[in-house]
Amino acid sequence: MTDLATPPIAARPAPLESPPVARYKGRTVLAIGAHPDDLELAIGGTLAKLRKSGARVVMAVVSIPADYDARRREAEQAAEILGCELRILIDGGATKRIEDMKTYELVKVLDEVVKDTQPAAVLTHGPSEFHRDHVLVYDAAIATQRLRYFDFFSYHPNFCRPVPVQFHPRAYVDISDTIETKMAAIAVHRSQFGNRGLPIDIYRDIARMNGRIVGAQYAEGLDVGRMLLA
Ligand SMILES: [Zn+2]
Repeated sequence: MTDLATPPIAARPAPLESPPVARYKGRTVLAIGAHPDDLELAIGGTLAKLRKSGARVVMAVVSIPADYDARRREAEQAAEILGCELRILIDGGATKRIEDMKTYELVKVLDEVVKDTQPAAVLTHGPSEFHRDHVLVYDAAIATQRLRYFDFFSYHPNFCRPVPVQFHPRAYVDISDTIETKMAAIAVHRSQFGNRGLPIDIYRDIARMNGRIVGAQYAEGLDVGRMLLA
């Protein structure tokens, strides 16, 4: 009898000698999220994996919309767990909302971090997000592509409570070896989950489902904005 809790993983070819994430070894990957926790939820496993592959990974959080001190601490702890550098882009030690900014102001903030970090890849929100401020960040990140060439990816729409959103990944990252790191990084965001009584196992479920599609135990899905193959 088949154990329904652990269905067999589909067969797939042997892993590539030089997996695509290794292309960023010794280079900078810039991950942009609207708020603390957005990056951990969507691509925590990918960021940890990139770090392990020798990339420098900068987690750029655009703003802290409420509860500044607690959420900043949580973001710092999560970045440390993932082994990444944390930057709060609209800072000054106070809560700020992205919706209060003009489009050109938000583009300027993202321009600055792109110019400063000179990324080989940028990962950020996508256009089909439930949260409007996530879409504003995506729109501003799109504009930064004029500054220089970098691979550009969008990640899974984010939510604390599940909502129906459209997302069709075009690329997957096998995160079987970093899923526990991802879950640990999510768990430190107690103000968003534990303290509100919200479970976090749905993020493991999403990774498990994406993994089944590509024959891995766990995976994260990405949409590809642009990618230079050779
Ligand atoms: Zn958010």
